[in-house]
Amino acid sequence: MANLRVTRPRIAVLEAVRAHPHADTETIFGAVRVALPDVSRQAVYDVLAALTAVGLVRRIQPSGSVARYEVRVGDNHHHVVCRSCGVIADIDCAVGEAPCLTASDDNGFSVDEAEVIYWGLCPDCSTSQASRSRP
Ligand SMILES: [Zn+2]
Ligand SMILES: [Zn+2]
Repeated sequence: MANLRVTRPRIAVLEAVRAHPHADTETIFGAVRVALPDVSRQAVYDVLAALTAVGLVRRIQPSGSVARYEVRVGDNHHHVVCRSCGVIADIDCAVGEAPCLTASDDNGFSVDEAEVIYWGLCPDCSTSQASRSRP
């Protein structure tokens, strides 16, 4: 019954990723532990890798950040990352139906994903910077 043994961690990990969009493995591990106190860190890593491989979970890794996971898959949405605090938010494709998939020159590749990361300051950080620079 190997299948049954992997099912509970799988469901718990999926639930954790759903509850914490763009969470890193530590956050997901902590959330899974609440549901399954006996789960090992390695088991959570393995389940995350398996779920990513079958496309139930999407893995993103902005430069300078650890890997983050989310359950919003298959819509080729993009991300905006705060340079100051590292918070990540979803951004829908800039214009309509994933036009960024149409590369100006695809070099013969069959393109199925475009990974765009916008960098800037989140509302909280830009507010605190603005108030700090005020005399
Ligand atoms: Zn921020
Ligand atoms: Zn996302």
